[in-house]
Amino acid sequence: MNITEDLEQAIDIVDLVSKYASLKKSGVNYKAVCPFPGHNEKTPSFMVSPSKQIAYCFGCHKWWGPIKFVMDIENCEFKDAIEILWWYTGIEVNTNFNKEKHETKKNIYSLYKDAVNYYKNAFLKYPEVKKYVFDRWLSEKVMNDFYFGYADSWVELYNYLKSKWYDDEMIIQSNIFLDIKTRKDKFINRLIFPIQNARWDFVAFTARILWAWEPKYLNSPASDLYDKSNILYWLFNARTAITKQDFIIVTEWQMDTISLQSAGFFNTVAVSWSALTDKHLTLIKRLTHKVFLCFDWDNAWEKATKSAIEKMKNAWFEVRIIDLPDWKDPDDIIRTGENFQGYIDNATTPIWYYIKKSNFLNTGIDQKKKLLAELLDIVKSYSDNIEKDYYLKEISRLLDISQNIVYDLYNRVKFTINTNNESKKEVEKMSSEDLVIWYCILDEKNLEFFNKHILFKNWLSNDLKMILEEWLKYLNTLELSKKERFRWISLKIELENEHTNYEHSKVELQKIVNLLNREIYKKLVSTLKKEMENWNDEAFIKYTHLVNEAKKIGIK
Ligand SMILES: [Zn+2]
Repeated sequence: MNITEDLEQAIDIVDLVSKYASLKKSGVNYKAVCPFPGHNEKTPSFMVSPSKQIAYCFGCHKWWGPIKFVMDIENCEFKDAIEILWWYTGIEVNTNFNKEKHETKKNIYSLYKDAVNYYKNAFLKYPEVKKYVFDRWLSEKVMNDFYFGYADSWVELYNYLKSKWYDDEMIIQSNIFLDIKTRKDKFINRLIFPIQNARWDFVAFTARILWAWEPKYLNSPASDLYDKSNILYWLFNARTAITKQDFIIVTEWQMDTISLQSAGFFNTVAVSWSALTDKHLTLIKRLTHKVFLCFDWDNAWEKATKSAIEKMKNAWFEVRIIDLPDWKDPDDIIRTGENFQGYIDNATTPIWYYIKKSNFLNTGIDQKKKLLAELLDIVKSYSDNIEKDYYLKEISRLLDISQNIVYDLYNRVKFTINTNNESKKEVEKMSSEDLVIWYCILDEKNLEFFNKHILFKNWLSNDLKMILEEWLKYLNTLELSKKERFRWISLKIELENEHTNYEHSKVELQKIVNLLNREIYKKLVSTLKKEMENWNDEAFIKYTHLVNEAKKIGIK
């Protein structure tokens, strides 16, 4: 039997689908509201047949076996679907995976699940804890849905886990206890928020101290099990909403997500006080390409927002920033009954975000110029032309500068990106013609110089000929990609010669002209020589002419 058959046999489709949709028994089958994006329905038309091991939607007119179902719902490839199913079933399908490690993980997942249950039960036993949470935040349903727990004792959890036959080694590996000698629960007297990975397993806790006004948190340490950079809080539960609404809201920590979820924003997840990583983005990409960042506005998170924008740039994400009033987080907004949807509707683009952060309304013309230069630099760093165009128009609108001026300046602006060794190689690779073009772009005055000193103009390439003749007019008709390549190289030259004053680099320019003249001369001579071999008189005259001219400027 092959892997696919193995897996399809081992997995129970009812089990599998119930991880993504709420199934209700209906005769011998089960039914649910269709969990797939694009199919918004109120009455269930999605059926699951345990005997046939398939799911069928009467609205989408599609059927799924387990693998196809995972591929479609996770929006992933076959290979990933196999891995996901492998996690669900424990069947070894890939020799690259270490089965032993998997077994250990499986057990530690069940240990965590038991710990979650323990904390949850403890939470219910202490009305004053429940009241504490209730008074400050949330309904009983939310406490239940999000597995709120309470660590009520130093040693009870250890005893409870021992009664479930976990050995000491695994218990200590769980990072829940101070050490095995004391067997003390390190989260004692704290409110527990369990954290799940993308497969719905519990892998860590965030614990908030009670009876103190200052919010103080203790988090599970990073481990094999819990890698913050790879976990978005509540993603597993949020994914249907994310695909259906085709955007995701990313908050900075659990409580913000719980608040927003409880207020009906089911496409919300949290990064757990970590920066948004490439791994997070891979998880998000499977579900949507529209990302709404909702981070706090303190310095650290301003940095986090900037770094997230930077990461998502040119990676086909559409980024929006939800801009909350000073010192408020989503939890504050929800608790005071403000309309959070309004903030989503008014979410800003990254460019708008930079403008807002600069408080440009309070500044004068000089500041406006400076800001414009910075913004053009940012636009420059985007690779998609439509996106660039969108931002340039936005800049024109928000800064109240005419579109023509913005576009004109954009076309002249130079890059200020860091350089590296590669750029050096690129500059070395350039032909003298390219160098001439790029020095012209660097400084228009150089154009005059080249025009005066370049011989044999008729033999130049078309681009350079046109540039020398029509300069700006020609540059403006060039296609964007070509222009940008020119500017990119001009930046490299600029950085190479960081301490050179271009007013006084005529020696450098003369060198390039000499090189170019010599190149053209050689090319011409070899062409003419070939023609002269056929006793072409005209070629002979041209040749004599050429050699004489070259002699005048010292070319042999
Ligand atoms: Zn459907």
